[in-house]
Amino acid sequence: MTKAATIIPITLPTPFDVGPVNCCLLIGDAVTLIDSGPRTDEAREVLLSSLTENRLSFKDLDQYICTHYHPDHAGLSKEIQQAGVDTLMLKEAVPYVSGDSDFLKWADSFYIDLYRSFGVPDSLGRLELLKLKKYREFITPFMPDLTPLPGESVPGHEGFVFLKTPGHAPDHLSLYNEVQGVFIGGDVLLPHISSNALLEPPVLHEKDRPKTLLQYRETLQNLLTLNLQTVYPGHGEPFENAHELIRKRLHDQNERAKAIEKLLNDEPLTVFELCVRLFPKLYEKQLGLVVSEVSGHLDLLQEEGRIIKAEEEGLFYFRQTGAVR
Ligand SMILES: [Zn+2]
Repeated sequence: MTKAATIIPITLPTPFDVGPVNCCLLIGDAVTLIDSGPRTDEAREVLLSSLTENRLSFKDLDQYICTHYHPDHAGLSKEIQQAGVDTLMLKEAVPYVSGDSDFLKWADSFYIDLYRSFGVPDSLGRLELLKLKKYREFITPFMPDLTPLPGESVPGHEGFVFLKTPGHAPDHLSLYNEVQGVFIGGDVLLPHISSNALLEPPVLHEKDRPKTLLQYRETLQNLLTLNLQTVYPGHGEPFENAHELIRKRLHDQNERAKAIEKLLNDEPLTVFELCVRLFPKLYEKQLGLVVSEVSGHLDLLQEEGRIIKAEEEGLFYFRQTGAVR
């Protein structure tokens, strides 16, 4: 019989709008830390003192697993790795966390071009890019030691496997124990807020950006087939009603898609025009999130053949299929 794993959540402060982030200690035959918080003095201090409370320091960890590249989860990875701890992430994380300058330049020019084609005013687009650059400073670049494959067992934790769960981030990794119904899910499923399927650039030198909301919905559908008794999320308290929450998230996405489809019945609109109409109070402050939200749902509507995209002088316009112009 498998001994139930001990999971000790550790909550760290972040300077970001999302609020505190959860890491956790997974204790079985191995001692594993999952996620590490942003690179700030405050987060480091709380992480170290939480480890001390469990009579541990970085060098006592057998391994460190990071769920995805976002700085609120991956920021202190390098410091942990420097203590001699094996660091595991999916291979998709490498261009993001290694500070690959070719990739970062590629990503920046992708966002500039994309925002332009979405009708975002240049001044707002530039501001958003600056924010992205600042955000990247909350992580020290590093190269993962090991890149596990989806479906592989988590070393030292019988019954736990790695799952690839893309959508919120292209490199998103979760840990799942079918027998115990335990899911350590990073930002895949959060109890109090819907997880944003953020716009991402294509893989270096490839043409098409990933359709992240469609990826995310596929991830959610896959999760509905799993035994999810307890979810340990990257933000908020552990929770138990995961299938119900997944169905709510999918339903809310369908409702938002319908609202966008309706707006496109009257006249063709750009992504930015839709952002202003749907999120009049938020679009300036949270442009990156809002643009991702709208363009993700446009991807969904296009996939379902409910809207079409036209290009005029480098600008994309969307309209309902069958609507008269
Ligand atoms: Zn997060």
